[in-house]
Amino acid sequence: MPYRAEYIWIDGQKPTSKLRSKTRVIQNGDDLPIWGFDGSSTDQAPGSESDRVLRPVKIVPDPIRGGDAVLALCEVLNTDMTPHESNTRVRAVEALAKYGDQEPWFGIEQEYTFYKDGRPHGWPIGGYPAPQGGYYCGIGADEIWGRDVVEDHTTACIAAGLAISGTNAEVMIGQWEFQIGPVDTVEIGDSVWLARWLLYRVAEDYDISATLDPKPVKGDWNGAGMHTNFSTKAMRESYEPIIAACEALGKKAEEHVANYGAGIEDRLTGLHETAPWSEYSYGVSDRGASVRIPWQVAVEQKGYIEDRRPNANGDPYVIAALMTETICSALA
Ligand code: ADP
Ligand code: MN
Ligand code: MN
Ligand code: MN
Repeated sequence: MPYRAEYIWIDGQKPTSKLRSKTRVIQNGDDLPIWGFDGSSTDQAPGSESDRVLRPVKIVPDPIRGGDAVLALCEVLNTDMTPHESNTRVRAVEALAKYGDQEPWFGIEQEYTFYKDGRPHGWPIGGYPAPQGGYYCGIGADEIWGRDVVEDHTTACIAAGLAISGTNAEVMIGQWEFQIGPVDTVEIGDSVWLARWLLYRVAEDYDISATLDPKPVKGDWNGAGMHTNFSTKAMRESYEPIIAACEALGKKAEEHVANYGAGIEDRLTGLHETAPWSEYSYGVSDRGASVRIPWQVAVEQKGYIEDRRPNANGDPYVIAALMTETICSALA
């Protein structure tokens, strides 16, 4: 029986790329071919020279269609097979090739907000819900909206073989988080992008949309981040490289913040469990610091660090490549 492959790619929209996909029917026994698309409709080509190339880089079972169907995450190439300028995966591949001997691992906490009927899911028409305080990890229909979507999404990620490691309801009503990892510098980007696609797709069936807007509601409401946890083999074995990693991030703070997602100044205000974007800091257990050393890590004198700065809308390929380059070059 022929089966369907969903070719998924990242477009060229600025300042924040979004996901696209289209379906190809594959004859049984055939490999997934490279394919093309109209780059002039995705900010990836001019109309006069519009063809761009899709090359599958990670193929997983499609948990939505089931059977033999697959999801094929693709990278975008020009017609001469060079990487398109929007192809940020290349940088992650290069960083891992250069520093793979240090065995870099990433765990990403992807926060997001559900929207229904044009407002955050669970918010009353034309007003505000009770101030935040009870919603984080809450339980009950007065505090939780969208759990059915979250459960279906988690089941889908597991069935697709993604390294999803947990979920929780967040501080703002309608806001949630899933965690992926720990996996390497390339696998983290592949997995987060695929998990994002599955989130949008699963939520479609509930007439709910998920957004990665880093500050969906202005005012006294938490933004949405993408805390990025990182370790190397040396950091997993002793404490000195943990401190060296925090110091290395401090030396390149401006470059990192500039690449951690559009609109980061609106989220990293110094309030709502963030450090101001313009000041770098690190500390044990400190959720008001740029980088947190978890308390168990300080006790055990080994483990990982949490960069709390990345926005929910950041590109995990870019973030993982940058952190690998900055930290592994300092630890080498
Ligand atoms: P938080 O307390 O900040 O909410 P979470 O439990 O949501 O933390 O997320 C922790 C993340 O750290 C998970 O994605 C997990 O996979 C990741 N993680 C755990 N150990 C390591 C490690 N040694 N290196 C990198 N990431 C790790
Ligand atoms: Mn978390
Ligand atoms: Mn969180
Ligand atoms: Mn966190």
